Amino acid sequence: MAILNIITEEDPTLRRVSRKVDEITPRIIRLLDDMRDTLHKAQGAGLAAVQVGVLRRVVLVEVEEGKTIELINPEIIASSGKQNEVEGCLSLPHKWGVTDRPMSVTVRALDRNGNTFEMTGEGLLARAFCHELDHLDGKLFTDNAVRMVDESELG
Ligand code: ZN
Repeated sequence: MAILNIITEEDPTLRRVSRKVDEITPRIIRLLDDMRDTLHKAQGAGLAAVQVGVLRRVVLVEVEEGKTIELINPEIIASSGKQNEVEGCLSLPHKWGVTDRPMSVTVRALDRNGNTFEMTGEGLLARAFCHELDHLDGKLFTDNAVRMVDESELG
């Protein structure tokens, strides 16, 4: 088990585009395991590899405790509806903003065994998919926030 360092806004790496995973090597498996430990320690809802300084298209999402979803080379293949909720990011501590996101999102990705799967998320899970996939293209939630929210406004 290893807790990785989560990079923050000042690090320009966050703005870079991550590369596809061509082969699921033991190194990628180890990355997934370490990212899981890191996500649990940070108590976040999701983590992209770029946030631990690794420019690979790998993300974890966990909106339900203990149910970690691992996505390798994820793509959004369908989305519908609209939601405007408050979002934050482990790389942007103390920043919160209301974003424009679809209400329902279907992703296609590889799991750690190299099998393709599809999953549809609604609400918070849809938001988490969008947020983490944006990281792979160097985007941050502040880019499409409709307004920022002061920490004191949050309950
Ligand atoms: Zn984030």
